[in-house]
Amino acid sequence: MIVIRRENPTFPDQVVGEVIETAVTDIDAIVQRSHQAFETWSALSLADRCVALTAAADLVTPEIFDEIALLLTQEVGKPLPDSRGEAMYSVSLMRFNIDQAKKVLATHYIDDDAGKLVRTRVPFGVVLAITPWNAPIILSMLKVAPALVAGNSIIVKPSPQAPLAVTKLLNVISSGLPDGVIQVVHGGPEAGEALVTHPLVRKVAFTGGDVVARHIGVAAAQMITPTVMELGGNDAAIFLEDAVLDEAAMDRIALATFMMGGQVCMASKRIYVPRSRYHEFIAGFVAACERSVVVGDPMTDGVTVGPVVSRAAQERLENLVKDSVAAGGEVIEVGTVVDVEVVANGYFVRPRIVLNLPDDAQLVCEEQFGPLVPIQPYDSVHEVIARANATELGLAASVWSADEQQAFEVAQRIEAGFVFINTHNRTGMTPRAPFGGVKKSGFGREYGDEGLLDYTQNVSIHAPAAYRPGGSGGSANAYPGTADVVKRIANVLDDLIDNG
Ligand code: NAD
Repeated sequence: MIVIRRENPTFPDQVVGEVIETAVTDIDAIVQRSHQAFETWSALSLADRCVALTAAADLVTPEIFDEIALLLTQEVGKPLPDSRGEAMYSVSLMRFNIDQAKKVLATHYIDDDAGKLVRTRVPFGVVLAITPWNAPIILSMLKVAPALVAGNSIIVKPSPQAPLAVTKLLNVISSGLPDGVIQVVHGGPEAGEALVTHPLVRKVAFTGGDVVARHIGVAAAQMITPTVMELGGNDAAIFLEDAVLDEAAMDRIALATFMMGGQVCMASKRIYVPRSRYHEFIAGFVAACERSVVVGDPMTDGVTVGPVVSRAAQERLENLVKDSVAAGGEVIEVGTVVDVEVVANGYFVRPRIVLNLPDDAQLVCEEQFGPLVPIQPYDSVHEVIARANATELGLAASVWSADEQQAFEVAQRIEAGFVFINTHNRTGMTPRAPFGGVKKSGFGREYGDEGLLDYTQNVSIHAPAAYRPGGSGGSANAYPGTADVVKRIANVLDDLIDNG
């Protein structure tokens, strides 16, 4: 039996809790159980499933939210109010999907001259969710909620770096649902691959990095199993010449950059500012960080940035700082530090901005996933759009301008799946807008109608009013309606000839 112990990144010598790694030999039984659960769960009406899911969501009491928030803060270093917010928001996603379901999953009936057509949305079967550590609860519930509403069963494999809080929440919700509808599997690549390659897993929903995405993509392709891929980003925040740089705007961009220590897929990761306003922007940004970026123990009131997730992440980020200096960047520490002793001993990385880097520096062209951000001057809108798009990633971006119309026009030229106007990251999210990447940031969508539709397939049932010609006398290539069209053209030609 292998035990996965999760250390506290704020106090690395503390173990927060442990889970038992699922033996690969147990995976088949888990998937079979999920498949059986699917058979009965999908046979319920949509209305009955929604009633059951609402009751299950109601089981998460304020006391349970408190316990989950504490666990999440201890296992990933997220400030306590953010952890509580994550847990509560994730349950609200369940209610959002329930509210949407009737409209989004409605069956469409067409009965007209062309025949009778019924179009329904059906579930896939067993859905597998593989999720990362940075927002383990939201990123699991973005898959669990739509999958279950749509009639699938689900198996969640959380990251071994954040298995505790999400398991607690899923256990509570699953206690109110039929046996096997939600199951949790613990482990790393081995467990993940055994699940992806199981023949009864009908859909894989993955959030994480591109390296793992490629492994999963290849394995899923071998099984002809469809995937949803929510991958990393290198979000450009573009300030136009007329952007408002007041305190409120500066607070928004500072938090969008450093919230959760920058370990957010849609954090602002490259900031572009007109050369004419470069110094003004930097002064405003540094001042905003003084106000709102407070590094310390994530349990301390007022702290907005805790540690990064692990020693390996801390080392990687410090190496990125060295690389930025070597590339000619000017590095400036920002924000304030409280709990100085804790910060000295935990896996903390001081938030820093880096000025005047070349565009091919690692910090500019790769996802940093930490509290370091390059601020780059530019000279023309055309140029900044080209520089923002010069990446294989395309998750999110933002455009800032006093003229909203102009901001929307620039936004439409950015290669990203989600573009915020005059904000970025969490303050700009809405569950009604589908979210996901273009280019190598992934495919498939979460949130919105599409986030629910992605867990269903269309089935068409059709009784045509007239049959396509076939067999003796008909041509296999004569498509429905073709004969009519040919006849109409012939009539027109006849008329023309008759009329001289
Ligand atoms: P990761 O890719 O290292 O791991 C993600 C998950 O995959 C974990 O559960 C891990 O155990 C599992 N896994 C690892 N190898 C596997 C294999 N061979 N087969 C099956 N499963 C395997 O990602 P991470 O470090 O946990 O998360 C950080 C990355 O996630 C960043 O790139 C970030 O941008 C991205 N992310 C994207 C979004 C989004 O919505 N687009 C949201 C959050 C995070």
